[in-house]
Amino acid sequence: MISLTLKRPEYPNYQYLCKVCSVHIENVHGAYKHIKEKRHKKNMTEKQEETELRALPAPSAGQLRAVDAAVMEMARQQGISEQDFEERASVVARMEEVIKTHLSGRAPGGDIISWL
Ligand SMILES: [Zn+2]
Repeated sequence: MISLTLKRPEYPNYQYLCKVCSVHIENVHGAYKHIKEKRHKKNMTEKQEETELRALPAPSAGQLRAVDAAVMEMARQQGISEQDFEERASVVARMEEVIKTHLSGRAPGGDIISWL
């Protein structure tokens, strides 16, 4: 990842550029030294991981089925039951009824505090 640079006027004394670290390096000796630095190694590892993640193939049909099965199993274990769902739906229906009863005939923005 270290390449020779064309001499740039802003870096007249630097021959190399580490593209991973965006660091200009003076000479071959400096380049050898740089690739042994912790910071460079860390950046190389991160760059490699990024490259590998981008290169991951799309999931296969089998993998998608496995994810589906895992999600369905989780929903079965953690999700709400039909009975809970119906109870909640009936609470919503009762609430709607209460609200309609108390708000009917009132002008929008009228006195709704009194029934709360
Ligand atoms: Zn570097």
